[in-house]
Amino acid sequence: MEVILVQKSFYEEVGLKVGLEIHQQLKTSRKLFCYCPPILRKDKPDIKVVRFMRPTLGETGEIDPTMLKEFKKKRKIVYEAFSDTTCLYELDEVPPYEISTEALEIALTIAQLFRMKIPDVLLVSRKQYLDGSVPSGFQRTIIVGLNGYLELSNGKKIRIVQLCLEEDAARKIAERDNEVIYRVDRLGIPLVEITTDASLSTPDEVLDAALRIGALLRATGRVMRGIGTIRQDINVSIRGGNRVEIKGVQRPEWFKPLIDNEIKRQLALIEITQELRRRKVSKDEIDNVKIIDVTEIFKNTAAKFIRKAIQRGEKVYALKLPKFGGLLGKEILPGRRFGKEFAERVAVITGLKGIIHTDELPNYGISEEEKAKLFEMTRADKEKDCVVIVVGPEERAKEALEEVRERAKEALEGVPSETRKANPDGTTSFERPLGGAARLYPDTDYPPILVDKSLLEKVSRSLPEYPWKRVERYVKDYGLSREYAERIVLSERSEIFEEIIKMGVPAKLAATVILETMTSLRREGFPVENISDEKLKDVFHYLIKGDISKEAIPEILKALSKEPEKDIKDILKELGIRKLSLEELDTIIEQVINKNIELIRLRGERAFKPLMGDVMRIVRGKIDGKTVSERLMEKLKEKIATLK
Ligand SMILES: [Zn+2]
Repeated sequence: MEVILVQKSFYEEVGLKVGLEIHQQLKTSRKLFCYCPPILRKDKPDIKVVRFMRPTLGETGEIDPTMLKEFKKKRKIVYEAFSDTTCLYELDEVPPYEISTEALEIALTIAQLFRMKIPDVLLVSRKQYLDGSVPSGFQRTIIVGLNGYLELSNGKKIRIVQLCLEEDAARKIAERDNEVIYRVDRLGIPLVEITTDASLSTPDEVLDAALRIGALLRATGRVMRGIGTIRQDINVSIRGGNRVEIKGVQRPEWFKPLIDNEIKRQLALIEITQELRRRKVSKDEIDNVKIIDVTEIFKNTAAKFIRKAIQRGEKVYALKLPKFGGLLGKEILPGRRFGKEFAERVAVITGLKGIIHTDELPNYGISEEEKAKLFEMTRADKEKDCVVIVVGPEERAKEALEEVRERAKEALEGVPSETRKANPDGTTSFERPLGGAARLYPDTDYPPILVDKSLLEKVSRSLPEYPWKRVERYVKDYGLSREYAERIVLSERSEIFEEIIKMGVPAKLAATVILETMTSLRREGFPVENISDEKLKDVFHYLIKGDISKEAIPEILKALSKEPEKDIKDILKELGIRKLSLEELDTIIEQVINKNIELIRLRGERAFKPLMGDVMRIVRGKIDGKTVSERLMEKLKEKIATLK
């Protein structure tokens, strides 16, 4: 217990605050603002459209800096579409059609489940996106609920700040230097965005909240499931740090490492800020440094990539960071130096590979002598300053160093507020500065939506059972342990659990297959998530009919996970799985007994165990173990009697 106490006080001590943002696609028959089917296609698109993006003034009269940055990339955007399952709306050639009432109803259901305030009139807004993921340059979004709450398993109540019904963006298919390709089949699929307040104070609470929100969404039975249908982002901050949004948390087990690393990163950045303040670095000082051309130093460098770039006509530019000596080389996470924060930003914004700084030199073929010349040409102090160089075409290289200058100035303030991408190893990388409120403005194409009282009543009459109430019911009605009941309710297959039981499958068996068998198969590397609910139900159907024994289930699931479309009948044939008749079983038992007469003479009834092992090796999966054990015991006793 002591360990837990230590951990808790650590998160308390750093003042951890985490908020969750969950995007969940809804299960509807059409898209949110057009009548196209909400399906993703794997085949070749037959339409291609090329566009460029421009930013517009927001409601507050400013241009959002994030949007401006996207615009500066001047990229060509290619949209791929399908003439039979996408329409002119996805390509922003016609105004929105009438909103999907089905989607609205699901969103209202979710809002009521979180006990949110639902506005009398719903307004459609536009959220700017200039990365190209929405051809119109904005996503249509509607606030459907405000100020609800969710109770965590530790009894703490967190606020659900807002629920938005919005359109999903297009899928990014490929990205090249100055071109990005999107497919618009995903564009317009209705989704809800759920935002919690930042009151989650440990990684465990974050996990609990995410699982509970997920269970609540699935309880409606009207949300999509599977990879890519739910997306989770977290906002992490600590005392003295800043709000950093981490996007794309794909698995629940990522929460803890991501949060722990972000705490370490912010602590290290705060320390660097304090050090810069001790060194009395000022913004003006950084602003006054000129970017200079240092190409001549590297004319004959041993660093091949620089020499080649110069031959191509590219240049090397340098920027002195006054009094930053030693800091860019400082480790902020294991294997990750402060310099990487600069490099990633340069890479994302200018597309250049990155930066080189004097803290890491000599290296990459750059010599001690060249390093000394760098200090000399930039009039930098070898001990106190740091010099950053960038290789590339003149304009982009200079732009990159301006970005370095910006990041250096931000270091004087502390942790920059930004959006970062979650990596599978628990680290994050820079994606863009955090978007501001200037990106939201009213949609002039769609009239306000009056929320009909009768619709609200209809929704509240048919609210699904709360998952936590379902836990109680499973314990009481099905005799499941509380742990099993909770795990079933939180699991992805919770929806079909009751259907399986209604087929006549014992609750404990259904729970064991869903929780234990499926999990261990996944750990062994079988992609059981490929198995559809329908197929899983089919397997249980065969069990109930008596065509297979429960011992055969793991083998069938293994095969199904690899060929999820295959008919179960064919899988059974291939695996040679069929139920043995009692006569066939008896014959096998007799054969095994006759082979082991000596053993039986010697050990009597104690020979049962090894004999059972022998019989099961032959009949496993073809008949249930209980029947085998009963018949074997009976036959064994008969045999012993004849031997006396
Ligand atoms: Zn459409």
